[in-house]
Amino acid sequence: MAVPQLDGHVIIAGAGIGGLAAAIALARHGIASKVVEREKVFSAEGAGIQLGPNATRILKRWGVLGRLGGGVVCPQCIEIHDGRSGAKLARVPLGDSVQARYGAPYITLQRAELHRALLAQARAHDAIVLKRRFEVENIFSSTANGIAVQAMDGARAKACLLIGADGVRSRVREAIAPHAELKFSGKTAWRTLLDISTLAARFQTPAVGLWMAANAHLVHYPVGGGKTLNLVAVIDDACAQQGWNARGMPDEIRAHFRDWPDDIETLISGAGTWRKWPLVEMPRLESWSQGRAVLLGDAAHPILPFLAQGAAMAIEDADALAQALAGHSSSLEHALMTYQTMRQRRVAAVQSASRRMGYIYHMSGLAARARNLVLGASRPETLLRRYDWLYRFGGEEG
Ligand SMILES: Cc1cc2nc3c(=O)[nH]c(=O)nc-3n(C[C@H](O)[C@H](O)[C@H](O)COP(=O)(O)OP(=O)(O)OC[C@H]3O[C@@H](n4cnc5c(N)ncnc54)[C@H](O)[C@@H]3O)c2cc1C
Repeated sequence: MAVPQLDGHVIIAGAGIGGLAAAIALARHGIASKVVEREKVFSAEGAGIQLGPNATRILKRWGVLGRLGGGVVCPQCIEIHDGRSGAKLARVPLGDSVQARYGAPYITLQRAELHRALLAQARAHDAIVLKRRFEVENIFSSTANGIAVQAMDGARAKACLLIGADGVRSRVREAIAPHAELKFSGKTAWRTLLDISTLAARFQTPAVGLWMAANAHLVHYPVGGGKTLNLVAVIDDACAQQGWNARGMPDEIRAHFRDWPDDIETLISGAGTWRKWPLVEMPRLESWSQGRAVLLGDAAHPILPFLAQGAAMAIEDADALAQALAGHSSSLEHALMTYQTMRQRRVAAVQSASRRMGYIYHMSGLAARARNLVLGASRPETLLRRYDWLYRFGGEEG
């Protein structure tokens, strides 16, 4: 039984991972929604994505995991290397170990494939309407009876609730928290995809590779059913370079990895097209909602990608918001506060842990040597257990 004021449909701004997840989660509780997306086509930018068991457990419950096609890879481990010497430092088991310990898989896949599965699931629900070319510009009116948004082209849409799932540069957040400012984190991520059959044997295994050195780290994993390698290079930058998803110059990224092991230099040199993302952070919002508008995913809490959890947090948010709205709250305000209480501490913990990982990955000198010694002395299962707090989340009901 949904809260009393939810007496119409909900508008969700943004048909990204969080927006589609929210529509699916609401529909499962009988709450109708209209998802509005600014782009001409429903699709997902970016390259690969890793999803831990905290996210796949929810996708499984929603029936989305089964919709993912043959492109999904279940990596068997994370192999951690020193980026300068090339020495293998440690191994974190994934594959069967994750499935057995957390009851859901750890997967890697193309972001577009996850998006397609969410879209297919959303289209299968009568309670979900999807609309393209509707770029929310502002909240036109918000009263005790409803909320209306205005699009860039002047079109308007009314609803009983507005969910801002419009990503890191959210317009809905601008309306709710106009003083919240994004800050460059000092790190830029470069991404590319490579044909795995052309690469050295060590990059053809079903594993996530992590290479760490002062001022830079590299992550790679197979996607596309194991045919493609997703490569992410993160470098320290003095200032934010232009653009989000802008083209990156191959020579510039090659220069950063010039002194790395030969295999890595060859890997970096083999990539033709790079896209780069200046990574941003934002001070924590005191409130994720105002009146009949609420935020979710990157719009509420941009997360550095060093724990590979941004999309997972958007999926967890969607699940929690739907539960709060469908629960026994006496009012919409109370339901939105319940959602925020369910999520704020969890997200803050993940944000802090992600930031800490970024710091650890880029250590230099004595600190890096100490890090390498600790990793080298750690048993694989012990390293996996360190993620219990992250991956067990929501497991009891899963
Ligand atoms: C380098 C890098 C690597 C990453 N790796 C991982 C990973 O391995 N695992 C993981 O879980 N996460 C990862 N993330 C994070 C993840 O990509 C994001 O956290 C996630 O996509 C957030 O989803 P979202 O739905 O909140 O926002 P988005 O995916 O950004 O979706 C927002 C949607 O809203 C639309 N939109 C924007 N403005 C408007 C508007 N005004 N009106 C209507 N529509 C609008 C956009 O077009 C888009 O479709 C990574 C991020 C980066 C940068």
